[in-house]
Amino acid sequence: MITNFDIQEFNESPNNKKFELLCNYCGKSFTVKKKKISKYIHNPTSKKYCFCSLGCRIDNFLDKYIENDDNYLDKIIQKKEKNKKRSKIELFVEEKLIEYFGGLNFIFDSSNTIGYNLDIYIPSLNLGIDINGLHHYKPIFGKKAFELTQDKDKKKILECRNRGINYHTINISNQKRFTKETSQIYVDEIINIINFYLLKK
Ligand SMILES: [Zn+2]
Repeated sequence: MITNFDIQEFNESPNNKKFELLCNYCGKSFTVKKKKISKYIHNPTSKKYCFCSLGCRIDNFLDKYIENDDNYLDKIIQKKEKNKKRSKIELFVEEKLIEYFGGLNFIFDSSNTIGYNLDIYIPSLNLGIDINGLHHYKPIFGKKAFELTQDKDKKKILECRNRGINYHTINISNQKRFTKETSQIYVDEIINIINFYLLKK
């Protein structure tokens, strides 16, 4: 960590007072409580509090890991989402769709179908649907991660086009927090899309 404060003032201050650190990656200043800084300040090899944000941390490490692990970014995002492979809204949508379209064969969270992950795939309709959160639209995990996500999204669209799969995305970036009530509009949107293709058949 890069400290940006007077060490004597730091030593004489109460534990919950915040002190300024500088980001190793972008140089931006951010503050952390003395109590937390104290644990690592005498440990120069520690990576703790080196970065101002998750975005900067990912930006800094992304290149190194992406070579060995194409899913590195997905894993970080999963970790951020409390290690759940599938989000609450994905599970909610799955439950609602099975309830609504009893006879239809769904494949949820499939990565084998086209080489990219599809949240919902309906083979009989040649239909793929992704539920896209904020990180698909804004660089909340840093610039590099955003570029990577956008690149992957574009390739996925292309792959679907090549395979003749109808592909739709549901933009859920307006949802601040999952609740069944705020998720229902997305379920309805998906139901409408599926109904459109069912009627076309
Ligand atoms: Zn930074």
